[in-house]
Amino acid sequence: MSRVLVTGGAGFIGSHLVDRLVADGHAVTVLDDLSTGRREHVSQEVELVQGSVADRELVDGLFSRGRFDAVLHLAGQASIRISFASPEIDLTTNVLGTINVVRACHDSGVRRLLHASSMTIYGEPARIPTPEDEPCVPVSYYGVTKLAAERYVHIAAEGPDSGLAVTSLRMFNVYGPRQSIANPYQGVLAIFIGNVLRGEPITIHGDGGQTRDFVYVDDVVDAWVRLLDLPASFGRVLNVGSGRETSVNELADSVLRSFGQSRSTWEVRREGAQLGDQRRAAADVSALTALGWHSRCTFEEGLVATTSWAQAAAAS
Ligand code: NAD
Repeated sequence: MSRVLVTGGAGFIGSHLVDRLVADGHAVTVLDDLSTGRREHVSQEVELVQGSVADRELVDGLFSRGRFDAVLHLAGQASIRISFASPEIDLTTNVLGTINVVRACHDSGVRRLLHASSMTIYGEPARIPTPEDEPCVPVSYYGVTKLAAERYVHIAAEGPDSGLAVTSLRMFNVYGPRQSIANPYQGVLAIFIGNVLRGEPITIHGDGGQTRDFVYVDDVVDAWVRLLDLPASFGRVLNVGSGRETSVNELADSVLRSFGQSRSTWEVRREGAQLGDQRRAAADVSALTALGWHSRCTFEEGLVATTSWAQAAAAS
């Protein structure tokens, strides 16, 4: 058993990761300010410290209570739209919060840090599927702060005598149960499901030809857990995606179909393209696959699991 800190562990991805770590026998602590995360998604067996990663005193105090064997840093402002509306919040959470976590890892002798990076840091990549050595030119404020955070993590670990082994997981569009269907600012698949469950029209921004790589949350958790103690991943950035490109138009049709609807029975509106909206996204996952990981859930299976969960959650 090891002591693991999960920042953002009350969030969508973080809470699934916490469940897996607990099942694997780790002693887990969660640090989360519950801004988008939910207390009820955190297992009772887990200590939840409510506070912000941007609060240096709180972070230092938590790390000084005894050395964590590993830190999984997922706390973050995860919405592109909010990054433009409130860039200070995005910067403070994603960059200052990460600096605080990295510094506390160093000061308390943590040896292992995994970081939640994002496909948004690629911007408009020349290569699709995109490998990790593609130049990073983010086109959203969110992409800028995620790239800055990733570089803080890796530069800190490369310092002399750092003793800190880091890995960044550049996750593509993660979806699955517990992704908020009520938050209109993040997670296009969950937003569409929420629209249908509330009887609202689906809104597509732009022509709907923009593509995303949807990867099911259990596959993402598999990647985090596989890399936790894997020396071959130390110092590396790794894409986590399905490798499959799906347009937002196709997504809308799939979500409607999963509810027995179609565009002839359901209103699909169009609005202008959103700032920072990337045109195409698909992950080249050969580096992660070479480390033994495989995406196991098809999009069709994942969508059924997600809509079933959302229907039950909306009814309760
Ligand atoms: P989420 O919003 O459900 O999770 C983020 C969690 O961080 C929430 O529990 C929230 O309460 C917490 N948080 C936010 N600000 C905080 C702060 N200042 N201090 C402490 N906790 C704070 O989103 P998610 O989709 O689970 O994303 C988790 C991480 O993965 C984020 O860092 C996000 O940028 C990154 N990511 C997500 C995706 C995706 O498709 N969902 C893709 C790539 C990267």
